[in-house]
Amino acid sequence: MANSTKSDKKPSNKSASGSDVRVVFLGGLGEIGRNCAAIEVDNQIMLIDCGLMFPDDDMAGVDLVLPDFTWLRENADRVIGVVATHGHEDHIGAIGFLLDEMELQIIGSPLTIGLARNRIEERGVLKKAKFIEVSDNERIQVGPFDMEFFPVTHSVPHGFATAFHTPQGVILHSGDFKLDMTPVDQRLTDLAGIGHLAKDDGVRLFLCDSTNAVSPGFSDSETSIGSSLADIVQARKGRRLIVACFASHIHRVQQVADAAIANDRIVVTLGRSMNKNVQLARQMGLLNIPDTHLRKIEDIDDIADENLCIISTGSQGEPMSALARMATGDNKWLTIQDGDCIILSSHPIPGNETGVTRVIDGLLRKGAEVIDSTTHRVHATGHAKAEELKVLHSIVQPEWFVPVHGEYRHMTEHARIATRMGTSPDRIIVCQDGQSVVLNEDGLKRGGDVPAEYIYVDGTVGDLDESVLAERRTLGTDGFVSCVIPIRIEGPNATLLDLPEIISRGWVHGTEGDQLRKDAAHQIRDAVESALSDGKRTRQELERIVRRTLGRFVNNRTRLRPMIVPVVLGAHEGNEDA
Ligand SMILES: [Zn+2]
Ligand SMILES: [Zn+2]
Repeated sequence: MANSTKSDKKPSNKSASGSDVRVVFLGGLGEIGRNCAAIEVDNQIMLIDCGLMFPDDDMAGVDLVLPDFTWLRENADRVIGVVATHGHEDHIGAIGFLLDEMELQIIGSPLTIGLARNRIEERGVLKKAKFIEVSDNERIQVGPFDMEFFPVTHSVPHGFATAFHTPQGVILHSGDFKLDMTPVDQRLTDLAGIGHLAKDDGVRLFLCDSTNAVSPGFSDSETSIGSSLADIVQARKGRRLIVACFASHIHRVQQVADAAIANDRIVVTLGRSMNKNVQLARQMGLLNIPDTHLRKIEDIDDIADENLCIISTGSQGEPMSALARMATGDNKWLTIQDGDCIILSSHPIPGNETGVTRVIDGLLRKGAEVIDSTTHRVHATGHAKAEELKVLHSIVQPEWFVPVHGEYRHMTEHARIATRMGTSPDRIIVCQDGQSVVLNEDGLKRGGDVPAEYIYVDGTVGDLDESVLAERRTLGTDGFVSCVIPIRIEGPNATLLDLPEIISRGWVHGTEGDQLRKDAAHQIRDAVESALSDGKRTRQELERIVRRTLGRFVNNRTRLRPMIVPVVLGAHEGNEDA
């Protein structure tokens, strides 16, 4: 995979010297998604998460964005594994891509490993992965890494905060977390355990989730959403019900199922990842839906509408998802009709807002009632808000602090919160993707930079760079104008064989367009004839002249900047610098 060339960061292979411990941030610091950090102890590298990001609207045609693996590739012999803090795509979704290039040990809770394994299997690289399942509060040693795992609450079950006991003291990584005092599975964030760690060992460096640092107050408990869902379901007796949520949000699925079953409904799962995750979570005993109340989508015609509750993927407006297909009338299994009630039990993650709006509009046009978090309490965030961050800071009381997991504004606000909680500003380093910090006896310092460009995946092609996206944006906004110029060179003589032919798409149409193309052709003819009489003979120099002439013409006459594609036939091949 190639890098785009947005920055001039030079790769830095220098590892920390002696017993220094270095943390390299490869993704997730400056955006929501593609979380990936590397921790170096005794010249070995352990990753903390390896996730992907979903593209923004301006990343024309891109399917996924990965962390930049350049530095990991250059140091592949030192990379021993990945700690998967929890099972979200922005933390585990890129492991399969890294496994294309190197073998890895993958460490996580059984559910996290189960979710990661499904993804890795889909990419066909299972053989290169070795899985290490760890339980709550377990402490294990892998190579030089002495790691301890503390339970945290989040929007997927069985997430961890990870303590690395290093030669330079404890580095605590919060993982994605919230302080839910009444979680669906009663598994609380282990504040007592983290408190012991902070008191007994002391936390030298704290890396903490910043996603909701700008949101005041405390987040809602997941169970508070359950009662709201139950009320909504009860009030819609006799109508067909479709609920969309994240397939990994097992507790949300549980609460939807509970509300459905209490109202004489049968649960039907829809969407590949929903089917897979529900099956996995039931096998692991993390999801309780009795066999009598769970049916396959194939059986949907056997169940009366009023007894049906479909739990579907597509809450983020993903165009190929089950819900998006319902909105366009292309779903194979069901057609939305008047009176259907659809609940989007989610909140759009940045970049997905337009897609979600499109799906909601489509469903409304088909006569459905659509309920989402803007109108009802059908979603609770999985990330700690400002007051929860303060609680954790008050317990951890770190010597040094680096905010992680967030846009830049989230991380700077988190730094402010940490200062408020007693960490001196000169002991807080706000980092971005590609930067690193080194911890040693003297404290924490910035280390060298490594490449951390966005790596775009489009279909199966993994080496799409920024220039391709720039071309797509130009084509998308102003179209293209091409010009074909046939010339003949015989000895010292060169002639233009025909009037240049102008071809355009997405530029101008109709009579006005015909006139513009005719005028352009004449200008290019004049420019080419004068270039030929000046002795220009190579394709490269002639194309450059045509591009300049045509570009100027198009801009003067239409104020547009389409892509200009000159094609000179019959000229000599010269070198690019001719
Ligand atoms: Zn995350
Ligand atoms: Zn998460």
